[in-house]
Order: sequence, then structure tokens, then C-alpha cells
Amino acid sequence: MQLSTPVEELSRVGPQYQRKLKKLGIKTVRDALFHFPHRYEDFSNLIPIAKAEVGGPFCFQGEITEIKNIRTFKKRMILTQAVIEDKTGKLKAVWFNQHYLVNTFKKGDYVCLAGKVAGKGSAKYLSSPAYEKILKGFQNKELIHTGRLIPVYPETEGLSSKWLRFIIKPLLARLAKPLSAGRQEIPDSLPEKIKKEYNFLPLKKALWQIHFPDSLELAEEAKKRFVFEELFILSLFVLRERMKLNREKAIAIPADVPLIKKLTKGLPYKLTDAQRKSVWQILKDLEKPRPMNRLLEGDVGSGKTIVSAISALNVAKYGYQTAFMAPTEILAKQHYKTITNILKGFNVNIGLITGKESYYKNKKTPRKELLEKVKNSKIDILIGTHAIIQDTNPKTKHKTPVKFSRLAFVIIDEQHRFGVDQRARLSRQKEFVPHLLSMTATPIPRTLSLTIYGDLDLSVIDEMPHGRKKIITKIIQPKDKKETYNFIGSQVKEGRQAFVICPRIEPPTTFQNNISNQTEIIKSGGGMDVKAVKQEYEKLKKEVFPDLKIGMLHGKMKTQEKEKIMKKFKSGLIDILVSTSVVEVGVDIPNATVMMIEGSEKFGLAQLHQFRGRVGRSDFQSYCFLFADKPGIITNRRLRALISCENGFELAEKDLEIRGPGDLSGTRQWGVPDLIMSSLRDISLVEKSRSEAKEILKEDPTLKKHPLLRENLEEFRKRIHFE
Ligand code: ADP
Ligand code: MG
Repeated sequence: MQLSTPVEELSRVGPQYQRKLKKLGIKTVRDALFHFPHRYEDFSNLIPIAKAEVGGPFCFQGEITEIKNIRTFKKRMILTQAVIEDKTGKLKAVWFNQHYLVNTFKKGDYVCLAGKVAGKGSAKYLSSPAYEKILKGFQNKELIHTGRLIPVYPETEGLSSKWLRFIIKPLLARLAKPLSAGRQEIPDSLPEKIKKEYNFLPLKKALWQIHFPDSLELAEEAKKRFVFEELFILSLFVLRERMKLNREKAIAIPADVPLIKKLTKGLPYKLTDAQRKSVWQILKDLEKPRPMNRLLEGDVGSGKTIVSAISALNVAKYGYQTAFMAPTEILAKQHYKTITNILKGFNVNIGLITGKESYYKNKKTPRKELLEKVKNSKIDILIGTHAIIQDTNPKTKHKTPVKFSRLAFVIIDEQHRFGVDQRARLSRQKEFVPHLLSMTATPIPRTLSLTIYGDLDLSVIDEMPHGRKKIITKIIQPKDKKETYNFIGSQVKEGRQAFVICPRIEPPTTFQNNISNQTEIIKSGGGMDVKAVKQEYEKLKKEVFPDLKIGMLHGKMKTQEKEKIMKKFKSGLIDILVSTSVVEVGVDIPNATVMMIEGSEKFGLAQLHQFRGRVGRSDFQSYCFLFADKPGIITNRRLRALISCENGFELAEKDLEIRGPGDLSGTRQWGVPDLIMSSLRDISLVEKSRSEAKEILKEDPTLKKHPLLRENLEEFRKRIHFE
């Protein structure tokens, strides 16, 4: 067994579990070992049965003297009832819907049970305790579900913490033994000097202590080491990329000021100062013979597209090509239309390529023909999805990669990923590396941008186009829902349009896991979301707005279908669009003025802000209505933050403050390891790891003297790469 051994080769992992593990991002032994608990259940309070009192959690060890299933009449549930006995007394234990337990245990078995004690007086009982069999006489050894601090992991449907413990524990045990010939143990790549300086636990110990800690303090110490390590590796990665890039050459493209003036004069609006400043910074970068590495940050609706279009025009007129990548087909197409429109009259050839379709000069064009045009430099700006960089598309079986002959500029919209990777793919084996402009509206907390985008140059559009009105945001109480619907109806009568977003629905938690509150579902089933949208759609169509045109959009629809719907919405053939979060990013429908969000407590602040950004894109007054199914104190605090705060970047900081970074929504799309996300409040740690990384690279720029670190970095690169 090695760290890279795929999990399916482990004896206890069948194909079904393999799929589930993959959902959690666990593909190899390494992934499993580094799947850290997000909290611990304290089942270490082992007491004699006679001392049991209501409350807990407590842990008891004893012999099963009775076990049976009882059917409850009222609820038609199966109740499993057992009695355990130790030298001091007897105690009843009760489980619901776990009838198989009568087969798991038999009379005379020794067990360890842990959980809360309920009941009154002599009728005390253990309520749905965690359990594990033990051997008489060896009670305290090798417990993994009871009798100690128990790790509770991020889970997914049908994959419980209990099962994960069952898989991870033996892997840890094997760390003590040679992993493979010639290698004694899991290599610890963190330099000794750093470990000493910060008093970090050695790797093996840290792994044990983060999974099965002897104390919460030790778990915390272990975590600190791993957080530092991740930040350190991330910093090394970013810094090295920058060093490499600084040695590369790029095409220097002079700014054609008269041309740009001509374009901006023809726009129906005036650029904001922030837009002008960003354009200027980009043009200055393009003039240099070094590859630009710039992030254009601007809140939703701040007008990033026009900034990128101006830059691309400048490149096109100098005779070079631009690749413009968008995250979804809908967005790619929207950009294609917008940019074609902005640049009409400038004689620029623009193409569109997605996984399925290709367009040239507004006409459907066979993919082959389009690729030929890209190769022959007949296309100045190629807009598309990932299809631009994918060599092969498993779905459509396209084998030919897109080849540019004069690519000088890459624009990446809303990717939140490491643009450097995408650029690298586009510029393989070329003498010149294209300039890179990444654009994002995802509000990234300062600490994170320092880390990920550490050495990226930054342009910020920090003002909204003139004439925009503040979006009126309201939390709607259930009793006011009807009134809100009436209001939406009146908006539609005035010619406006509305979005209705349906919540993410979490599938029911499983019963297999009997530790209270421990099941946390990470990924919601896409099918459930679709169901919610369909229900809402039917309701609005039949009951609420029978005379309006209602449309529906969800992620399970075919792209063409989705596009048809978006087109209809854009051209006003749909009044109200009911949707899942697929409309989240980038969609531009200036006539829409109402964003209504069902189950808003299920979304993160950043995501809610993104939704809200879909409206308020014109001079019309816009509204954002938040419904919450289960409003609680925290929810209210969060939703109120949304009302008081219009700025996505401030909101991200607030989200971090209120919910803690572990919950920060959208973290996954940044491609940032969870551990890093969880450490973002600790700015000093972020800074320390960066300065240590800098120091190492100063002494050893190629990491020749740190082979393990180099290996680790390579691993890291693979991890943040496309899946
Ligand atoms: P985002 O930054 O979210 O990508 P877009 O580029 O989609 O924003 O722009 C949002 C809307 O604002 C578009 O309809 C665009 O035409 C419009 N817009 C962009 N810049 C300005 C401006 N300076 N004044 C008025 N409207 C603008
Ligand atoms: Mg955009």
C-alpha cells in the first residue's frame, strides 16, 4: 500500500463506497488520511453504570444481557431495546429503526455504549447510543467509536463518520509499518527547520492526533500543523509560478488609444472611472514583453465584460488572437453576443465554441471549419467554455484540440481557479506565453486573496455604473408572502421580469449513523433540487400566477433546452423564471427587477449576493425578497447583513465572521483545500507561511535541496488542476 494507492484497492471498499468516497474527494489512501474531522464527539467520559444520570454524553462498558426488537404502535417504528450490565448495575439502551442490531449483538457480548442518558428516576435509558463491541479484559484498547474523543467527518449520503473511522483507522495503523519497499514511512515534507521553529508535531503523530486525538488540545495542535503546511505549499506554488512566469516572454502589444476612444464613444453609456482605470492598467500590462498576470475583481454588475472587450479589441487590431473562457455554455453564448455587439463596426472576427456547438460570425459553423479558422488566424477572438482547452471531449468524442496560431491574450471569466493552469494549457510549447486576465465577481476575503492571488496584479472595479439604484432587499415573513406575490405581479404588469430561486434541498439524513447530530450532508443531490424547482414552477403557474408566463430552469436540463429558456426570458417571452442556482453567475438580463429567493437560509451570503446581482442592472428600481423556511438567530443575522450591505467584498468578510470559514459558501469553486479555508481568520499564520515559503525559494529556487517538498508541490498541482 502506498499513499497513491486508489481506495478501491482497499479490502473494505467496494464499488458503491468508492463512488461515495469520490463525492467527498477521496480517491487515494492519501486523500483518506487527509480527510480530516470537522469536529469531535467527546465520548471519553467512561463511568460505571451505577453512576449514570440524565445528561451526558457518557460512556459505559458492560455485557449485553438482553436485546430485542419492539414495534411501536403509534409511530409504526421499530425500537431496539437492550440491557447492559456491569459490576455496578444495569442500564437500558434504546435505538430507533436499527432493527439489524439484534443480529449485530447477542446476549453475552461485551460492548461499549456512548451517548446521552434520558428518562427519569429508575427509568433511565441510553438514547440511541453509539456502540462498539469490545473484548472482555481489553476494554480500553483500540476503541474507535466510543470511549474517547470521536472524530466526526464531513459526510455524504450513505457514507457515515462511523464508516469513515472504520476505513481510516487501519490506514493510520499501517503508517507505522513500511508503506512500500525502500520507504519506511509516510514522508514528512515540511522542512525540519520550520517544524522546530513553530514546534509542530511530526507528520505521523499529527495524523493520529487529528483523527483520534488524546485531547482536544492535541487535535488543535495537529490541525495547526496541517493548516500551516497547506498554506505553505500553496504559497510555494503561487510564488514559483510567478518566478517561472517572470522568465517567460510575451507579445508586447501597444495600446491603440484612438481606437479605444472610438469604441468608448460609441457605447450607450460612459465608462465609470474604475472601469477606465482597469482598462488602462490592462493596456499597460499588455505593452510589456512579459506575460500579464492580472485579476479583475468587480462586484456583480460592475461591468467587467466591457473592460475585457476593449482589451481584446486592442489585441485583435494588433493582429493577435484572444481566447475568452466562460464557465458555462449559457455564459459563453451571452458573452459571444455581447462582445459581438460591442465590437460590431470594428471588423473583428469572433467565434464561439462549446462542447457541442460552434459559431462564426453569428452563424452555426462546423467545428472543424471553426478550428481551421482559429488555426489560420481568421478568428481574432474565440469565446467558449472549457472546450477551448479540452483536447478531447468524452461526451462528443471530439479529438482535435483547439490550436491558435497567434494567441497573445487569454481572458477567463468567473473561474475562481488558478488561471495559470489554463493559460499553461493554451500556450504549450510556444515561444510566447499569452497574457492572462482573470475576472471574478466572487468576493474573496482579503486573507484568501493574499494567499491564492498572492503575486497577481489586481485591478478592482469598486464603483457601480451611474444611475443604478440600490436594490431594495427584504426578509419576507410567511404571512407577507401573498402580498409579495401581488407585488411581483404588479412589476410584471409594468413590463418587468422576475427570478424565483429555489433552495438547495438536502436529502434526508441516514439512520445508520447513530451519533446525535453527526450526519452532515455536504453535497446535495441534484435530483432533489430539480424536484423543488418543478414543484415551485407548478405552484406558481397553476395557483399564484395563472395568467403569467412562467419558465423553469435547472441543471439537469440539456444545454440547448436551457439556452432556449434563457433566450425566451431575455426576449421577454417569459415573465417569471423559476430556477435552481444555475443562474447564479454572470447572467445579464437588465429588464429583470425582482429576485425572489426561497429557502434563503440554505445559501451562503456570497451566493445570495450573487443572486441579487442578477437584478438591478438597469435604471429600474429592483428588489430582492428573501424567504426563509427555518429562520433562526444566525440566519437572521446573516440575512440582515445582506440587507445592510451592498458590497460583495464586505459581505464575504461578514460571512466569515458570522458563520466561520468552514461554511463559507462557494469555497469549493475556488479550488482551495478546505483546510485552508478554515484557517483564514488567522492572518498571522497566512503571513508566516508565506514568508517561510519565500525564504525557502530564495535559498533553493528549484527546490533541489528539498525533494520531498518538490514532490508534495507536484501533488498539490494535480489536486488543484481540473478534476
Ligand atoms: P459583470 O461585472 O457582473 O460581469 P457586466 O459586464 O455583465 O457585469 O455588466 C452589467 C451590465 O451593466 C451590462 O448590461 C452592461 O451593459 C452594463 N454596463 C457596463 N458598464 C456600464 C456603465 N459604465 N454604465 C452603464 N451600464 C454599464
Ligand atoms: Mg460577468
